[in-house]
Amino acid sequence: MEMEFVQGVKMQEDAAIEVGKAAKELDISISSHAPYFVNLCTDDKTKLANSKRHIISSAKITSLASGHITVFHPGFYQKLTPKEAFDAAKANLKDIESELKTQNIKIRLGAETVGKKSAFGGLDENIKLAQELDMVVPVPDFAHLHARGDFKIKSKDDYRAIFRKLEDGLGDYVKHFHCHFSEINYSEKGELNHFALNTNNEPPFKPFMKLLAENGYSGTVICETPRLDFDSLIMKKEYESALSKKK
Ligand SMILES: [Zn+2]
Repeated sequence: MEMEFVQGVKMQEDAAIEVGKAAKELDISISSHAPYFVNLCTDDKTKLANSKRHIISSAKITSLASGHITVFHPGFYQKLTPKEAFDAAKANLKDIESELKTQNIKIRLGAETVGKKSAFGGLDENIKLAQELDMVVPVPDFAHLHARGDFKIKSKDDYRAIFRKLEDGLGDYVKHFHCHFSEINYSEKGELNHFALNTNNEPPFKPFMKLLAENGYSGTVICETPRLDFDSLIMKKEYESALSKKK
């Protein structure tokens, strides 16, 4: 279950500890989504300080709630070249990591693949951030990869290509990955809005569930459609049926 801190981290510490207890009792794996107002590529000092604060407080509350990862959108290119944006994001994430280490907060920082062409955080960029930083992992959002035009996802082979990249770059991360899934509406600039399953089949969820089952890839798939729990169960059923056919 993903805790949505997208409009700000408003959960108090004692509430987070209660969430952690309940999650352990019910065997639910917890993660969170950090606030949307994050740009780690900006040179505006106030915006940057706020971006770091959002990720750090999100990480802290998530770890108190027994969560294992907080996901964030890395930033925007604006006037920067891709290399300059990468260097800025990396340097600022390093600062965040060192603050989290000082506070003894153990968590993964999930760099989500973004859905807009103007945003920094393609799959290659996020894999590279993960290779060069201690706590960062890439969080593929398959709808975003499709909408941004980085990968046109139609078949199992298209998903396989993405998992190959993760495996080549980060080895056994494919055995404990974290990702987001929904269908999506988009324009030439990238994402517009998320769709429920079976709306336009872009990207299609069935071949994704098959690929996971057949290859033993494992981790967490967060359903980000407008029908969160309802569509999660549809995906789970599809995955379990693919698993049983494999046996
Ligand atoms: Zn997101």
